[in-house]
Amino acid sequence: MKDITIAIDGFSSTGKSTLAKQLAKQLGYVYVDTGAMYRAVTFFAMQKGFVSENHLDKELLINELNNVTLNFTFNKELGFAEVYLNGTNVENEIRNLEVSRCVSQVAEISEVRSKLVEQQQEMGKNKAIVMDGRDIGTVVFPNAELKIFMNSSATTRAERRFKELSDKGQQVTYEEVLQNVQERDYIDTHREDSPLVKATDAIEIDNSSLTKEEQFNLVLNLVKQKL
Ligand code: C5P
Repeated sequence: MKDITIAIDGFSSTGKSTLAKQLAKQLGYVYVDTGAMYRAVTFFAMQKGFVSENHLDKELLINELNNVTLNFTFNKELGFAEVYLNGTNVENEIRNLEVSRCVSQVAEISEVRSKLVEQQQEMGKNKAIVMDGRDIGTVVFPNAELKIFMNSSATTRAERRFKELSDKGQQVTYEEVLQNVQERDYIDTHREDSPLVKATDAIEIDNSSLTKEEQFNLVLNLVKQKL
């Protein structure tokens, strides 16, 4: 069986990471959540006071980028790799709504993107990888053997995200989550550098009415055709 690269792109909260984790487990591949990398840089910038919902000090962040080191370490209990910022596990901190509100502004900065894309390409140089994000099939791995583009309605996505955050005990309203999903969609699709677009050779999956299992089986069949 040959090793391939699987690129999964799509809008926020379309279930990319759930699918990517399932595939990586089934195939024995590495899974990389690139959204976690943009979120970790954003968390760094928030701690330094460079970014908040209404303000971004782009130059200060760019000047500090050399002091940002990101790593992934596999957590056996969770079954996936957690992200570390300068040696500290920030997996929980990066998932809250405050980070979600700032992340798309930070992800627009070309210097941030080129640093993270370089690290992503390095992680995938031996293939046998499933990577999810916004620009994986277009920029990071334009030659990936399998490209999936995931979509579903903004309301379905906001409902999923709201449930996820509420289950974790975070005090958020459905309306706030929906607004955040829509704002990120807008910035992610309209930014100049690497906007979210479906790669011409990507297979689009609208999972609004698919169960996780149906979606997984659908994609696993696509994988089998490539192997
Ligand atoms: O995937 P997730 O929703 O955690 O990503 C958070 C944000 O990071 C996205 O809304 C987007 O602004 C940014 N991102 C990106 N490119 C990627 C992955 C994420 O711009 N490859």
